[in-house]
Amino acid sequence: MRMLLKIKDFAFTQPEAKAFISPNHPLTYGELWRKSNQVARYIFSQNISTGSPIMIYGHMEPEMIISFLGSVKSGHAYIPVDLSIPLERIEKISKASQSEIFINVTGNPLEFQNSTIQMITFDEIKTFSTDSDEIDPADWVSEDENFYIIYTSGSTGNPKGVQISVNNLQSFVDWMVEDFPIQGGLRFINQAPFSFDLSVMDLYPCLATGGHLFPITKEMIAKPKLLFEALKTSNTQVWTSTPSFVQMCLMDPSFNQELLPEIMVFLFCGEILPVQIARQLKERFPKAKVYNTYGPTEATVAITFVEITKEILNVYPTLPVGRAKKDIQLLLLNEDGHEVSEGEKGEIIIVGPSVSKGYLGQPELTEKSFYTFDGKPAYRTGDEGEMVEDLLFYKGRIDFQIKLHGYRMELEEIEQHIANSQYVKTAVVIPVSKGGKIEYLTAAIVPAEHEFDKEYQLTGAIKKELGNKLPAYMIPKKFEYYHELPITPNGKVDRKRIREKVIL
Ligand code: AMP
Repeated sequence: MRMLLKIKDFAFTQPEAKAFISPNHPLTYGELWRKSNQVARYIFSQNISTGSPIMIYGHMEPEMIISFLGSVKSGHAYIPVDLSIPLERIEKISKASQSEIFINVTGNPLEFQNSTIQMITFDEIKTFSTDSDEIDPADWVSEDENFYIIYTSGSTGNPKGVQISVNNLQSFVDWMVEDFPIQGGLRFINQAPFSFDLSVMDLYPCLATGGHLFPITKEMIAKPKLLFEALKTSNTQVWTSTPSFVQMCLMDPSFNQELLPEIMVFLFCGEILPVQIARQLKERFPKAKVYNTYGPTEATVAITFVEITKEILNVYPTLPVGRAKKDIQLLLLNEDGHEVSEGEKGEIIIVGPSVSKGYLGQPELTEKSFYTFDGKPAYRTGDEGEMVEDLLFYKGRIDFQIKLHGYRMELEEIEQHIANSQYVKTAVVIPVSKGGKIEYLTAAIVPAEHEFDKEYQLTGAIKKELGNKLPAYMIPKKFEYYHELPITPNGKVDRKRIREKVIL
């Protein structure tokens, strides 16, 4: 793969250059390459089934990216699993993906209840396999084979694994390197945990251009003082985050050019970029370019882009997501499957080489969203879009998928888990928005028989159960209880009326 060969070049031409900054020990390109050879050799020694992916568990440790590269060099895709994902969900992923090896880089043991996957710590790998000899590129994953599999929320109650191939990822990286001002040895920050594909927007473009990555950890995000100290030392040049994260940073007036004097580019993806945020950034960082990009995990991170210039800010009250990258064709289709005219809304269909082959081991789900158009892979996004003057505008969803603080989730998945609680008869989850942006979730619940005197005790008990099944960011903030939920004339729960009740 061209991208891996680039990283290899850097490992030999600039072995001492930093690839990844970590508090104890910065990882150099030379080390990244050698240590990932060791991981690959360990995987070879385990004789696991062809095509079986490797689960890699941790947060923003350098061992995460060493293990990613080790897996793909050994011919196996990897599944990044962040610390924020609870054990039960990890076990579901391990079963669904039929992974045979689970690399835990955290140093803290994990105990699965129902899985026989082989657990291995990074230290064990290092002691087991001291051989860091080159791995033959013929052994690496290639072409249409998976490079990584990222699990996202699924409306059936189970997460679904989006398979991203070597070709998908190469198409993405080529675009980033060609069409964005990020060529050569720059300092990037990484804000999104590796189990979200926004992290791919900085990880591989950074490594493929010999830059270095500065991770923003969850501890930093929880403590603004730590975060700002870290940002100051990072001397970031390329910023990649969700708009929600930069919005949080902007609340502090010291988030400005003085803090990040060398910042050149802000890249956003994953949710609506509000005009005020872009405007504030242009004021506080007058030398930096701001880009809005759009795309789902299923089409490899992002497929449209636009630089948010002063002119764009002046002309459009809501920001465009831009134009498609060269190898991608966008279709906007109405309910009958016909293309809509300019200025009309239609579902966004993405066609081209960065579209995934589908969800791992889920042919029915895959068939619902993926198909072939003109001989090329196509994906129905479930997003509504509109073209105005050659620019794509995002117009919301046609289903129950939402974004909350940058995290993608299916309301139906949350509802199913709440409804499975022993304390719940029925549940509907309502997103509560302010100024067009979802601020939090409220669960409207008809409780089952329970022993609690007070509602807060009941809420505590339900939340405790949910904590074992869902990541914290998917658990509703508010719980409201009703004797019954309103029903529409055709017998479905009436979400509109529930929303009115909840918002009152
Ligand atoms: P994910 O797979 O987590 O990247 O989420 C993909 C979804 O996020 C898309 O289908 C959109 O609904 C939403 N999204 C991504 N980028 C943008 C953007 N620039 N503006 C608005 N929504 C976006």
